[in-house]
Amino acid sequence: MNLPNSVTEIIQGFENGKFSSQELTKAYLNRIDNLDPEINSFITVCHERALLDAKKADRSRANGSANKLTGVPYANKDIFCTKGVRTTSGSRMLDTFISPYDATIVERLGSQGMVMLGKTNMDEFAMGSSNETSFYGQVNNPWNTNCVPGGSSGGSAAAVSAGFTPVATGSDTGGSIRQPAAFCGISGLKPTYGRVSRYGMIAFASSLDQAGPMGRSVEDLAHLLAPMAGYDSRDSTSSMVKTEDYFGNLEDELKGKTIGLPKEYFSTNLDRQVEGVIEEAIKEFEKLGANIIEISLPTTSLSIPAYYVISSAECSSNLSRYDGVRYGHRCELPTDIEDLYKRTRSEGFGEEVKRRLLTGTYVLSSGYYDAYYRKAQQIRRLIKDDFANAFTQVDAVISPTAPTTAFKAGEHQDNPVEMYLGDCFTVASNLAGLPALSVPAGFVGGMPVGLQLIGSYFQESKLLTLGHMFQKSTGWHQHFSRDESKGAQ
Ligand code: GLN
Repeated sequence: MNLPNSVTEIIQGFENGKFSSQELTKAYLNRIDNLDPEINSFITVCHERALLDAKKADRSRANGSANKLTGVPYANKDIFCTKGVRTTSGSRMLDTFISPYDATIVERLGSQGMVMLGKTNMDEFAMGSSNETSFYGQVNNPWNTNCVPGGSSGGSAAAVSAGFTPVATGSDTGGSIRQPAAFCGISGLKPTYGRVSRYGMIAFASSLDQAGPMGRSVEDLAHLLAPMAGYDSRDSTSSMVKTEDYFGNLEDELKGKTIGLPKEYFSTNLDRQVEGVIEEAIKEFEKLGANIIEISLPTTSLSIPAYYVISSAECSSNLSRYDGVRYGHRCELPTDIEDLYKRTRSEGFGEEVKRRLLTGTYVLSSGYYDAYYRKAQQIRRLIKDDFANAFTQVDAVISPTAPTTAFKAGEHQDNPVEMYLGDCFTVASNLAGLPALSVPAGFVGGMPVGLQLIGSYFQESKLLTLGHMFQKSTGWHQHFSRDESKGAQ
């Protein structure tokens, strides 16, 4: 069967009796089995469970108890706990971990009747921008398998791009939804901090982590965000702000909307051709009636150092739970408790995670706390103030999602800082807690370029409108990396 291109098309297909959820689920599973060996976007594929859930979905459609999304297949990043299906977070530490409960978002998507195809590959504990740090091997970009898919939600982005799943969940601590979405030519939204529950999402840096939807179109993001968003009493940072109708305003006119272009973002490390693509996109927004003005975010250059101090500090604390005592990997025959900790953690964690744990422990240590951690928190406040100031004038801030297109695997292997610098456009919105969207905006050398729109707090709906209207007029989201007719039989 020819796989549908969007959730909207799937819902229509169910309604017109074009296919059942079982047929569709089987087709996606076949495509994964046939084509994923080249991409490596899944860590676990749930053949049996998915087909059972699809059968249930078909039954509820037949007896009239189905929701809009009942029977729609999707994939979860392997950072979300799934009862009965192992959750690895891309790490050897959790290679055999099976969670006794579902993450809130898994539960919510499940209660809509959505069908989980499997768990997607990711950078270890979500630390990375290339998906090369996964214990389960690197993920290859479906547009060019010599290139990385971005990270850390690279498995989800590659799977959506390659047509292995219509939509997927991701998590974003410093860009991990948006940057892989950009590198793989799909759409991704990092919601406002607190909009989507973090309960059951394996922690990296708790004050920055946020779950969100990934899909081909902005409309598909709205489909997934609607059930994901909303208050959860099990997450103490979950927001009680009412959720919006994410579809109601999608077609709103852009006339009267003001978009800010931060002058600091168009600096030297931005690839000239990527810049050209963004300039074209800006013209498109003007054509659609938006007003573009130059703004200033003076603390821009401080966001990377502040982010890497804060996120490393938080992860060193969060990952102290992997001690070989409670769950996860345990070394063989420890001689005493010191030996147990040391060998368990040496064996269980990969290089990049160890680098962050060392940095984080260092910046939190007495004597350095004030110089690094406290300073970084002060900078975080300034960054937040910069945006607050900008949002008195504009509805959204526009920028590239990443300074380059997807780079070659291994390119930054010897220089982690070089890789960190690629996060220059994404980390500020995590530090400030703001929502941000990435949509495909064109190509450079055959590789997709992502455009980022940052909004004010809880203005996901406004961002989705901007993204949707842009997609309607450009169609960049309808360029697919893989032939849709292959592998589903
Ligand atoms: N690339 C960033 C990092 O390595 C962001 C990761 C993320 O958002 N999870 O920390």
